[in-house]
Amino acid sequence: MKLLVNFSRKKGRKPIIAQVVRDTGVLINVERAVIDSSEGEALIDVPDDQCRLVSDSMISLGANVRILEHGISLNESECVDCGACISICPREVFSMDNDWKLQLAEEKCVLCGKCIEACPHQALTLPL
Ligand code: SF4
Ligand code: SF4
Repeated sequence: MKLLVNFSRKKGRKPIIAQVVRDTGVLINVERAVIDSSEGEALIDVPDDQCRLVSDSMISLGANVRILEHGISLNESECVDCGACISICPREVFSMDNDWKLQLAEEKCVLCGKCIEACPHQALTLPL
């Protein structure tokens, strides 16, 4: 399960993810992170059955946490199978099947948003 974690660094530079790993014993896979001097956002992946434990632990440390049940979403009625999204995606979420129809491996998506701009038909959206 993927969690989107936002945290402020204004009150100090506590390593929230490291602290949660220590406190819960859950190994956290960081899919992507953007951190500056005042705030940070990290997309992490944790085992489904430990998702709530990690989320609660992060919230107790002052973070905002969103549990993301889905990756990128495809509107099949808008997609023209042009393939423009395939090369732009850093995680190989998209591929063509034998009939040259676009396929998604949604579970690989790290919600970076790069494919959305690449799609000429606005067929892709991120979960709200
Ligand atoms: S949001 Fe990023 S990782 Fe997800 S499908 Fe689009 S390009 Fe790939
Ligand atoms: S770029 Fe858009 S229209 Fe083209 S294959 Fe990807 S989702 Fe479909």
